[in-house]
Amino acid sequence: MLAADYFDGRSSRRHAATLSIRDGQVLVTGDFGKCRWPLAEVDISHSGGNGPCTLRFPDDALCELADDAALAAELAAAGVAGSVVTRAERRWRWALGALVGAVVLITAAYMHGLPWLAERVAPAIPAAVTEAISRAALQGLDSQVLTPSKLTPQRQQEIATKVAALASSAGSLPPYRLQFRSAPQIGANAFALPGGDVIVLDELLTLAKRDEEVIAVVAHELGHLHFHHGMRQLIQSTVVSVAAAVYLGDVSTLIAGLTALVLESRYSRQFELEADAYAGRLLLATPGSVEPLIAMLGRLDEARSKARGAVKGGAGQGSELLSSHPDSAERIRALQDMARR
Ligand SMILES: [Zn+2]
Repeated sequence: MLAADYFDGRSSRRHAATLSIRDGQVLVTGDFGKCRWPLAEVDISHSGGNGPCTLRFPDDALCELADDAALAAELAAAGVAGSVVTRAERRWRWALGALVGAVVLITAAYMHGLPWLAERVAPAIPAAVTEAISRAALQGLDSQVLTPSKLTPQRQQEIATKVAALASSAGSLPPYRLQFRSAPQIGANAFALPGGDVIVLDELLTLAKRDEEVIAVVAHELGHLHFHHGMRQLIQSTVVSVAAAVYLGDVSTLIAGLTALVLESRYSRQFELEADAYAGRLLLATPGSVEPLIAMLGRLDEARSKARGAVKGGAGQGSELLSSHPDSAERIRALQDMARR
């Protein structure tokens, strides 16, 4: 029999009690009466050695014992020392269950919470910050893959004027700066940086049959700017990279992630369809139709197939317009539906 302090879980009053263990049951007796619980239902917090220990009962009452070693001896005398191991195992299983639950929760947060958060945070990021990011990205691209455009200033101005005309009938456009570059190893492509730089490659003009097709692609890129897709993508992957960097203690993964993101500009299926729909609205609001964008998607798809056939895994990769998940057929169907409405 052991001396213990008993708390009934309803008041803070301490009761002097005695505790004994018989036939797999814990019996506590005192001025409050007596209570008895199966040992398997009692949660024992051992301090180990000669420190205090606590027994918590299912009704939230608890017993404090001054001497953990004495309880261990009482448990051994009752022939139930093994139950301590059982409880430890039960706790371990519970911890494993909690871990699985946490992984499920984090995954759900990543799949749904993070895009939700990024959508709300991205528009609130000061223009100075997004512009600084874009400048750094463009400098990096210029030193790695982009070369100066071979278009004459007059030709560049012609395209710029036609892009600006989209605004006159469609109301406002997101802030943008048209930039011309060349990149034979990337191929026909255009991409938008979060700060508003829309980079049009000479190769896109070579592939296009008429300027309207180029303008349609720029309209698609303006859609990415309008919805802050670049920044949202950056936030989503940065949060994950930062978490990974903190967890792994390796900042280089973060930097590698940022570079890859800017270089590949891979957007989700949803972002591509949204940008297409935005471009479709712009094009339908101006004389003409979505037909140039449809034609360009088909042409880009064809160019990619050819490139794939010629160089396995070579040219055609990294194309923002083509790297996307939705296949061109799905995007073309969505645009045709828009035109019919
Ligand atoms: Zn796109």
